[in-house]
Amino acid sequence: MSAATAAPSVSVTLPDGKALTFARGVTGAEIAASIGPGLARAALVIEVDGKEWDLFRPIAHDARIRIITRKDPEALELIRHDAAHVLAMAVQDLYPGTQVTIGPAIEDGFYYDFARDVPFTPEDLPKIEAKMREIVKADLPTRREVWPREEAVRHFEEIGEHYKAELIRSIPADEEVSIYFHGDWHDLCRGPHFASTGKIGDAFKLTKIAGAYWRGDASNAQLQRIYGTAWRDQKELDAYLLRIAEQERRDHRRIGKDLDLFTFSPEVGAGLPLWMPKGTVIRQELEFLAVNEERRDGYERIVTPEITKEALYVRSRHLAYYKEDMYAPIDIEGENYYLKPMNCPHHHMIYLARRHSYRELPIRYAEYGHCYRYEASGGLSGLMRVRGFSQNDAHIYCRQDQAKDEFVRVMRLHARYYEMMGIKDYYMRLSLPDLAKKHNFVDEPEKWRGAGEIIRSAMKETGYPFVEAEGEAAFYGPKVDFMIKSVIGTEYAISTNQLDFMATETFGLKYIGEDGAEHPVYVIHRAPLGSHERFTAFLIEHYAGAFPVWLAPVQARIVPISERVHEYAERVRRTLFELPVVNGTTGLRIDIDFSNERMQKKIRDAQLQKIPYMLVIGEREAQEGKVAVRLRSGKDLGPMPLDHFAARIRQEAESRTDVPE
Ligand SMILES: [Zn+2]
Ligand SMILES: [Zn+2]
Repeated sequence: MSAATAAPSVSVTLPDGKALTFARGVTGAEIAASIGPGLARAALVIEVDGKEWDLFRPIAHDARIRIITRKDPEALELIRHDAAHVLAMAVQDLYPGTQVTIGPAIEDGFYYDFARDVPFTPEDLPKIEAKMREIVKADLPTRREVWPREEAVRHFEEIGEHYKAELIRSIPADEEVSIYFHGDWHDLCRGPHFASTGKIGDAFKLTKIAGAYWRGDASNAQLQRIYGTAWRDQKELDAYLLRIAEQERRDHRRIGKDLDLFTFSPEVGAGLPLWMPKGTVIRQELEFLAVNEERRDGYERIVTPEITKEALYVRSRHLAYYKEDMYAPIDIEGENYYLKPMNCPHHHMIYLARRHSYRELPIRYAEYGHCYRYEASGGLSGLMRVRGFSQNDAHIYCRQDQAKDEFVRVMRLHARYYEMMGIKDYYMRLSLPDLAKKHNFVDEPEKWRGAGEIIRSAMKETGYPFVEAEGEAAFYGPKVDFMIKSVIGTEYAISTNQLDFMATETFGLKYIGEDGAEHPVYVIHRAPLGSHERFTAFLIEHYAGAFPVWLAPVQARIVPISERVHEYAERVRRTLFELPVVNGTTGLRIDIDFSNERMQKKIRDAQLQKIPYMLVIGEREAQEGKVAVRLRSGKDLGPMPLDHFAARIRQEAESRTDVPE
């Protein structure tokens, strides 16, 4: 060893255990260069004893190190943080007098919050982005300085960066005040940063402008936030932009508005959806489906109220285990009533209304029950997260020896629904309790194990793949959740199914056995279609608003070419309306565009409304008893006899199949 003997040295240990010795004050860049020119080029920052460190920062003590390159998982966050700085540089260059505040890396990108009197407009973004590319291309070197706190505060106040001065004042006393320079632009920052601006690369894009508040507090000054995204390379960036475009195209809130499906009103309240006529069609069709399928599976329908006395929730233990998800009670004649968060206790009360013999079981009570649960206003999102919802609920009361078969039937019902709707990307998660956490779960380890076994053997019998998760069970029993992935990758917990062995104790749910004695009842809670609200949100994304005939609010639109065929158009509508359809509501949902618009405009309107069929009618069609059929995809099926079309649409409505496009 040569240099090490004369000057003080440091020994750095690489991830593979190999140790290298350097003069004290060696930098990450020098270490990378000593290993190889390829690594020197690829290196972004260095990790020193687990802490990310600028490549140009001296290393003064022995350490374990790791050189982070573009390929490493940390690279994205680093690229985005550097991009945020360059965004701030570009903005201050183009709009002097703008104050910078904070600019972190976030999931999929970065933002920077600015204080500026004039609002940014979308037209500013390309200009700012072009300036950013200039700065990246100039490959300005980065430098880090540590300043005395008071001096730093004074400096930032002097140059008019009051937010930065405030940030420095709030840095804990034992932390350094580090200032990063890119060329001669500088910013208060914890770091680390790349050695130069060129390392960011060119796979970035500014995406949007939004309002923000200083320190996220609405009582503080309003700031302007510019969002951007940055990736390792163009391919990653393109894939991201495509994903975002598809998400926006399928966003259930946007489609719900465009297609007049549902709305919200500040006077009604956040999280309380108002279903418009067209959205109500979807709701009703789903309910018809559930009613029919459940009837076939031996369910009976019941109806229960939405408010309930406190005593029931004491007995059900909801007030012990679930109170924070419930709304405050309503005082009625001196007694507390709650909005119901779940339908179970009510269904149990119906079971309890009389005695049941072993011969009657299983009993299956179903209701699309309306429930209310507390969701923080910040968590509300369209129909996905709401405060009031209708659940595809049912409770199956059975003997222990029936529980497995009943559970299998419930699982198969899910599979039928999902197959019908072309939902392929889903899996089941079996949740068992973490019995060590007693306060979370009813403390009956033997029964838990027994119920867990029943569910597990049912799942095995179905042959459906499932994963197991500990500690996620409902407080009264193990459960199986159906996790669905939408086309754009959002994961929805749509349906929850529980095996409840405690209801017999909390509610005294029993049956009279063959021996004349009382025996405990097992309850299966299930909701394959989740709530109308969440399931509809999912379906809107799933179909991108282009519903199959059975769900489409308008199933066909008649487009008469001239007034002379209005009477025939009306006749076509009536013929289709009067078709007997086995499933769903009576009368196909057909409308007529009587407007004076040009035909092309009428067709485009129908396509934007995602109506499955357009029936164009001219004099020739009227004379021949035909309709010229077009699909919403634009495909022209040409004229066909009305009875042929009627048979086709009827078949699609009844079989609940997708429209071939
Ligand atoms: Zn920074
Ligand atoms: Zn239940």
